[in-house]
Amino acid sequence: MPVAIVGGGASGTILAAQLARRGLKSALVDGSGRAGRGVAYSTTEPAHLLNVRAEGMSAWAGDPDHFVRRFETEGGDRRGFAQRRLFGRYLRELLEEAVAGGATSLIEASAVAAERAGGCWRVTLDDGSNVEADALALAIGNQEPEGLRAFKGVGKRFVANPWGADARATVEDLAQSGGDALLVGTGLTMVDLVLSLDAAGHRGRILALSRRGQIPRSHADYEPAAVDAGEVPDGSVGAIWRWLRRRSAEVGWRAAVDSLRPHSHRLWQGLDTGEQWRFLRHARPWWDVHRHRIAPEVGATVARLIGEGRLEIMAGRIVAAAQGNDSIEVELRRRSSDSTERRTFAYAFNCTGPLHSMEHTRDPLLRSLLSGGQARPDHLGMGLEVDEKSRAGERLWALGPLTKGRYWEIIAVPDIREQAAAVAEDIERELHE
Ligand SMILES: Cc1cc2nc3c(=O)[nH]c(=O)nc-3n(C[C@H](O)[C@H](O)[C@H](O)COP(=O)(O)OP(=O)(O)OC[C@H]3O[C@@H](n4cnc5c(N)ncnc54)[C@H](O)[C@@H]3O)c2cc1C
Repeated sequence: MPVAIVGGGASGTILAAQLARRGLKSALVDGSGRAGRGVAYSTTEPAHLLNVRAEGMSAWAGDPDHFVRRFETEGGDRRGFAQRRLFGRYLRELLEEAVAGGATSLIEASAVAAERAGGCWRVTLDDGSNVEADALALAIGNQEPEGLRAFKGVGKRFVANPWGADARATVEDLAQSGGDALLVGTGLTMVDLVLSLDAAGHRGRILALSRRGQIPRSHADYEPAAVDAGEVPDGSVGAIWRWLRRRSAEVGWRAAVDSLRPHSHRLWQGLDTGEQWRFLRHARPWWDVHRHRIAPEVGATVARLIGEGRLEIMAGRIVAAAQGNDSIEVELRRRSSDSTERRTFAYAFNCTGPLHSMEHTRDPLLRSLLSGGQARPDHLGMGLEVDEKSRAGERLWALGPLTKGRYWEIIAVPDIREQAAAVAEDIERELHE
């Protein structure tokens, strides 16, 4: 029986390729039509660039230049930021190689339930068929954003999933109608939508709003300043933060932030649950915008649009929203203001980022695993509890965003490829025992 992999984004694809190299058969289940690319790399927009330099994007742990070698043959620069669709093509080729070699079979369906019985996993698909497997790996990526209460009942003018087909159609509609857009959230998803609107020729105004109004910073060259593990205080968010400020003053914030990368799993795991919550509540908005930076070209586009008055970034919150006449009427309050203001938009998009709650998950597969007691939420309730080998249960592994509770920094390709290699090795060991 094969290893069933649910989810064909970067995590599932790299795992399938790793298993193929080890001579292990897998069945990769993904019914979204973007297997081999996943959410981030199925974009067709040339304006959507990677937010990691090409030299950091190899799919293979131990072969850091694997992506660069291909990118350079197309005139790319290892220090540059490739179009995400090119990286999607690279991943898709990895999957096609694994399929052509006979190691991986691609099943174009969604998994809706999974159960372990009689010593194997039975994965139920939405077409009613089943896949039987020796082991199960969950690589289902990020979950759709949580619904925003204020926008309940405003209908189709609120785009709840910024990564879905509705969002693309709405961008086209906005480009033609020229209406104003509200983006709730000011992180990487907001940046993506702004780029899509600009590329589509939208000439209306865009308001992007979040509690703190922080937007991702841009990459720039800097002199790396590596630190030894022992130099960074652990166990307290406050102590790490003070260290980071001091270090930033000495070597620059980019060098200071990036110097924590090799130690991030240990630092996260050194925080108790209360401290991890403190990080998520207070430090995360700043951490995210400094750590997950955008390509300089993308930063320049965002700055240009702000300069032209087409994009406004606001710190504030939505008080209420109601359906108008071909529009959405929104009442919002700026941070540190007592009064509210009313604005009218053609559309609003939920750019608040992925759902981090197992309690509120709508994913039928996760619900089936949780209700059957075959997997458990992690201690923060964000994803699944996994051990140091990313095992979530008996012959059950989880990869990528589902394992944020244990690792926190586990969503970018440089982290995912290490995890996929370690999981493939662990699966091989387990199956050959
Ligand atoms: C817009 C965006 C841009 C990003 N840019 C970068 C970048 O430049 N560099 C970088 O390193 N990281 C980037 N990231 C981080 C990104 O999360 C990871 O690089 C990676 O794409 C995550 O891959 P994944 O396979 O875990 O998840 P996903 O890409 O979300 O793939 C999961 C797949 O599983 C499928 N699936 C889910 N549930 C089921 C089910 N029940 N049955 C079958 N299939 C299912 C989904 O349809 C999807 O195809 C970006 C993320 C986003 C959202």
